[in-house]
Amino acid sequence: VFRVNHLVKQFNGLRAVNDVSTEIHQGEAVFVLGPSGSGKSTFLRCLNLLEEPGSGEIYFKGGLINRPKADINKFRQQVGMVFQHFNLFPHLTILENITIAPVKTGRSSRAEATAKADALLKRIGLYDKRDVYPQQLSGGQKQRIAIVRALVMNPDVILFDEPTSALDPEMVGEVLALMKDLAQEGMTMVVVTHEIGFAREVASRVMFMDAGRVVEEGTPADVIDNPKNPRLQEFFSKVL
Ligand code: ATP
Ligand code: MG
Repeated sequence: VFRVNHLVKQFNGLRAVNDVSTEIHQGEAVFVLGPSGSGKSTFLRCLNLLEEPGSGEIYFKGGLINRPKADINKFRQQVGMVFQHFNLFPHLTILENITIAPVKTGRSSRAEATAKADALLKRIGLYDKRDVYPQQLSGGQKQRIAIVRALVMNPDVILFDEPTSALDPEMVGEVLALMKDLAQEGMTMVVVTHEIGFAREVASRVMFMDAGRVVEEGTPADVIDNPKNPRLQEFFSKVL
């Protein structure tokens, strides 16, 4: 789905992402781990052009997207994003939050979008919340709605940036369960998280970032349980 070549992103001379090359294949669940400030969010935000890459190339389904003439709107419709702080529209109902993007972009009629939203709401057990506002939901419910809002667009890939780190502990499980279901159904996803146990269970591949670079990449068994690099050994000894 994605091919990234020598991606660099600097902020005032600091290389937040420093020469990252990788590929994200269809059906993979790629987990990006690493210490705070290592460039995980910046890498993810470059993937959907929320940050403008400094140098390097990002290809999406074979087309170069970081070029002036790329159709960013069309590209964004195919890439879902789920943030730490949900980012639901407070003045719209749950149903409106889910249907606004497919309707506004012309991807579906209102009737189609509503039918799809209803089916997704039933699937996650929140159909009874369709006409309330986000403030009436718990954090875990809001985040599951944010995931449904991405799903309703039928994206090729969903990017998650610490989707559970703003949640109370008792709500983390319901969000991770939904993400795990999606991964098992073959949804392509790139997940930045500090939930190492979840990464070990669900990841098809783990990328470990430190100081803007990918210092190790491989299966969870290799990267999490048998890291070669001392930097990872230190990190996992602290968090596991
Ligand atoms: P965390 O686990 O704390 O979320 P992270 O791995 O996601 O960390 P990034 O947010 O990508 O790290 O930040 C990487 C580096 O880039 C940090 O040094 C950060 O201070 C810097 N940085 C990120 N965004 C900006 C920005 N908009 N302006 C200036 N510096 C930034
Ligand atoms: Mg981050």
